[in-house]
Amino acid sequence: MAQNNKGSMKFIVILTVAVIAIIAAFVIVDNMTKEETAENDTSTPAEPPSIEGQPTLGEKNAPVQIVEFGDYKCPSCKAWSEQVYPQLKADYVDSGKASLSYINVLFHGEASELAAKASEAVYKQAPDHFFEFSKAVYEAQPESHEEEWVTTEKLLKIAGETVPDIDLEQMREDMESEAIAQEVQKDSQMVEEYGIRLTPSVMINGQLVENPFDYEKITSIIEEELEGNNE
Ligand code: CA
Repeated sequence: MAQNNKGSMKFIVILTVAVIAIIAAFVIVDNMTKEETAENDTSTPAEPPSIEGQPTLGEKNAPVQIVEFGDYKCPSCKAWSEQVYPQLKADYVDSGKASLSYINVLFHGEASELAAKASEAVYKQAPDHFFEFSKAVYEAQPESHEEEWVTTEKLLKIAGETVPDIDLEQMREDMESEAIAQEVQKDSQMVEEYGIRLTPSVMINGQLVENPFDYEKITSIIEEELEGNNE
């Protein structure tokens, strides 16, 4: 009888340990799944994009940071540049309330990359004239999307017309350099990191604007951020 009791006690202990081990295993697996989900959720990154070393219009330390993810080959980006950008610049950037930074997106292959390299080369030589060049490249985008208009010669011509005293031979050299290729690569990493799927994409203090053409919504997000900053 005593022998039997000992035996069943041993069994209960083993059973208890086994149950605890199984529960612990479930909790660990569950937590791992949660962590994985959090990592994959790119819609709400913890930090707004870093604008360090990126073309930025207005006050770099403005309370509101607007980041445009754009592709020179994208027709909607041309539309945004012509319809939204001038208003946004006049209302918030020129008054020092917001900064506006530009990140290159390469969704249209080699032509996107060539134009992105040209913009980085302009930024390297004449950071203060980046946005004039950028706007002019969008203006040069033809209505017909069939036409191949992005060429090195065309980009150099636009730079010559919009950037005072630019050294075009230097720009041509820079466009083929490893340093400029790395700048474009850096932008692509940000596109990946922030889960950018559409162009243009606009982020305001790290918050992705659902429709970048909805100026009323853009205004309300900026005003909210400005209010939050004053509290
Ligand atoms: Ca860049």
